[in-house]
Amino acid sequence: MSEAALSTLQRVWGYPDFRGPQRQIVDTVIAGQDALVLMPTGGGKSLCYQVPSLVRPGTGIVISPLIALMQDQVAALEQLGVRAAFLNSTLDPDTRRAVELQYQAGELDMLYLAPERLQQSLDLLKRGNISLFAIDEAHCVSQWGHDFRPDYLGLDIIHQEFPDVPRIALTATATIQTREEIASRLGLEAAPKFVSSFDRPNIQYRIVPKNRARDSLLRFIRAEHDGDAGIVYCLSRKSVEQTAEFLRDQGLDALPYHAGLTAEQRQFNQKRFLRDEGVVMCATIAFGMGIDKPDVRFVAHLDLPKSVEGYYQETGRAGRDGEPATAWLAYGLQDVVQQRRMIEQGEGDAFRQRQQSLHLDAMLALCETAGCRRQMLLAYFGEDAEPCGNCDNCLNPPKTWDGTVQAQKLLSTIVRLDRATGRAYGAGALIDILLGKRTERSAAQGHDKVSTFGIGTELEDASWRTVVRQLLAMNIITAVGEYGVMRVTPRGAEVLAGREQVMLRKDEAAAVARSSRRTS
Ligand code: ADP
Ligand code: ZN
Repeated sequence: MSEAALSTLQRVWGYPDFRGPQRQIVDTVIAGQDALVLMPTGGGKSLCYQVPSLVRPGTGIVISPLIALMQDQVAALEQLGVRAAFLNSTLDPDTRRAVELQYQAGELDMLYLAPERLQQSLDLLKRGNISLFAIDEAHCVSQWGHDFRPDYLGLDIIHQEFPDVPRIALTATATIQTREEIASRLGLEAAPKFVSSFDRPNIQYRIVPKNRARDSLLRFIRAEHDGDAGIVYCLSRKSVEQTAEFLRDQGLDALPYHAGLTAEQRQFNQKRFLRDEGVVMCATIAFGMGIDKPDVRFVAHLDLPKSVEGYYQETGRAGRDGEPATAWLAYGLQDVVQQRRMIEQGEGDAFRQRQQSLHLDAMLALCETAGCRRQMLLAYFGEDAEPCGNCDNCLNPPKTWDGTVQAQKLLSTIVRLDRATGRAYGAGALIDILLGKRTERSAAQGHDKVSTFGIGTELEDASWRTVVRQLLAMNIITAVGEYGVMRVTPRGAEVLAGREQVMLRKDEAAAVARSSRRTS
């Protein structure tokens, strides 16, 4: 089997060999087995299904949620002489018909399909011969994740309708939770999982307090990335425009990219970014999916990403060539306030809001940690790592304060409440107790009878919140369930027993959060 795979790789792509786990994955699928593939962006997921599609008899069906990406991939495959086509909403009826006929006649090696077309394409699919199903961006099936697409829930029909065809699901973003959800929703529990390391050692992670952010961005670029290609992510279209203009005024080759521009403008700017050297693309997160530019030297965030997954994905667009690159983020007061408000006023139901809020908390924890950023980022994806020596916190360890006593106060509040009421509570209720705040609800539940009531007045509400976030970040407490109620972890038990000291970060992030309470 491996012979055919390797010779196909060399003949069609001209690559000498497979990279990392590709060979094993390809062998698995060629042998007719399912597979679940977790590989960071740039890891080389496409070949994992493209090569088996060519080696196995029949057409490889690829489910892909992004029309632009689909078109790019098909165009690239055609250039290599692969018979590939796609079916999505952009096709006129004649072209669609032609593709369908080609498929039925067995003239296609690969057919890309938008997920919303699957149901209506079942009859068509049955009239051809299928070599495999590839489910790209498989995390879209996860309701816990940050990129849920309802159409993905319907993909379990593949298994019912084509039980003998191997399926390979792929994603670049998966926490352990998402991973399990993908496996269970797609019926891939028994499939071998191929988990690559998510570490991107050449990326240096840096998170700075937000203070005249555009000026510090400019200083950063001038000092470290003069003339380099980079991406600057902003939350709003307006801020994209303003940032691009600001950088242009300073003599940089900066361009805007957001959904408010015409398709031509977007395409033009994207082409300039890909083709010319040293273009700085100021963009909303609409930009970047499927952009394969290896020499992006920095990715900057002027606003806080909504989730660690998003942050990882966006920063992952830097340094795909393996050369040193920087991920730079400015994090400040307004971000927290604004994002909390967006969540509260958003369309999501209570469940969704809760999810979004937990995603935000995880992102805040990454911003506020005094420990190694990379270590924490990888831990989020279920990987153990040593401190990296190549992030801001490793290079310049932040000032810390001994928060052991405060941690113990919080931990014992959790324990005592559990004893007194048999329940667990969220951060807000715990902090209210520590501050001795009386509310009707807390009185009704007897919170003011807990012996830690009012023993935490040395810190303000906002400071307690950063303490909570950092304790979460250190896995001293953990947030569980739909409501994110706090529980003491084994490590927390050590702290409570006085066997571990807790050093907390002392810096502007705390000050930022402190003032955030006043405005919100
Ligand atoms: P992903 O989908 O995981 O983000 P891609 O499939 O787009 O990654 O691959 C990223 C880049 O790596 C592409 O330019 C691809 O051609 C290249 N690549 C992948 N596998 C190999 C290989 N075995 N040898 C050489 N280049 C590879
Ligand atoms: Zn580090």
